[in-house]
Amino acid sequence: MDLFEYQARDLFEASGVPVLAGAVASTPEQAQQAAEKIGGKVVVKAQVKIGGRGKAGGVKLAENPSDAFEKAKAILGMDIKGHTVHKVMIAGAAPIESEYYLAILLDRAARSFLVMASVSGGMDIEEVAHKTPEKLAKVHVDPNAGISAENALEIVRKGGFPADVERAVAEVLVTLWKTFKDSDATLVEVNPLVKTTDGRIIALDGKVTLDDNAAFRHPDHEALIDHAATNPLEALAKEKDLNYVKLDGEVGVIGNGAGLVMSTLDVVAYAGEKFGGVKPANFLDIGGGASAQVMADGLSIILGDPAVKSVFVNVFGGITACDAVANGIVQALAMLGDKATKPIVVRLDGNNVVEGRRILNEANHPLVQQLDTMDGAAARAAELAAK
Ligand code: GDP
Ligand code: MN
Repeated sequence: MDLFEYQARDLFEASGVPVLAGAVASTPEQAQQAAEKIGGKVVVKAQVKIGGRGKAGGVKLAENPSDAFEKAKAILGMDIKGHTVHKVMIAGAAPIESEYYLAILLDRAARSFLVMASVSGGMDIEEVAHKTPEKLAKVHVDPNAGISAENALEIVRKGGFPADVERAVAEVLVTLWKTFKDSDATLVEVNPLVKTTDGRIIALDGKVTLDDNAAFRHPDHEALIDHAATNPLEALAKEKDLNYVKLDGEVGVIGNGAGLVMSTLDVVAYAGEKFGGVKPANFLDIGGGASAQVMADGLSIILGDPAVKSVFVNVFGGITACDAVANGIVQALAMLGDKATKPIVVRLDGNNVVEGRRILNEANHPLVQQLDTMDGAAARAAELAAK
């Protein structure tokens, strides 16, 4: 889960990373009140989970509370790279002398954690990495050892920081490591980390990604979920313990096994090219031992998606044989009754396939068509969706 900047700021504050006062607001009135509380000049910052807000006009300085009202009014409702701004953060404005960069992230390819530090912060770090790689230190961290004060100082020096700030920045890096580890994050990025004209080191913008696989260790992370942005079909699927991901096509897909479903998505997308660019509407893996109830839950979620025009059930019978899956489909359709309204193309293969196909033929449900091959079934489902 990615956090909003204001949530990252709160986390930083609680963990001892130096930040400025900040408050979140959904209306210009709230923004004005927050600015009054903070006092002095403030920045009004769009809260969207995407970078480059500054360049897009989503970060504005406000001279006083009534100016904060106006700036918030201008930023709220703005569209930044496809993200609508529903909230702004009001934060104390810092007189900036220099902008630096610090990040700790999970480096999957290296199976390790990676620290990046650069004296050239504020702008696109990819650009720094590309144009002046000598100004970006990249150092792997032994997860068991973590980052000691000495390690941190070494990294900061490698990042080209001037001597007068290196101790303070190293201290921030050690605190960031603690924050990263204690919150089970996969990314903690500060860009910019600034030196103010009066010599303070402050994290002005934070980006944090928390590891959802560690959510069970952090009951407090639940409160950070942005429910407004969660797809309602995905939320429903989660409730039913289904591995479902909404995509933006028209062919609903159900399969058993993540690998089979992934390749089904490819096959449907390929077949769809002949039918006006029809695409898969979702990923749904109902797993190995799918019961009739699981099939019914899966079908009802897919049929509840208004974008779906046809459904492709692609099952390779293994431990759960095709006859059990066929019975599951028949029972699922009986459970759904009138709610099943879209054509369903079924391709069964594998263990006990003859019996499975017989069961479906015998049931003779008006919405169900059987095809023997994955390619043939994908083409039929795409054709039906294009109609
Ligand atoms: P991003 O563009 O989405 O990464 O948003 P940032 O929070 O990093 O802000 C972009 C830029 O706005 C920063 O690099 C700063 O130059 C500027 N900025 C942000 N906060 C302040 C502030 O408090 N004072 C001043 N003077 N500039 C700020
Ligand atoms: Mn930034």
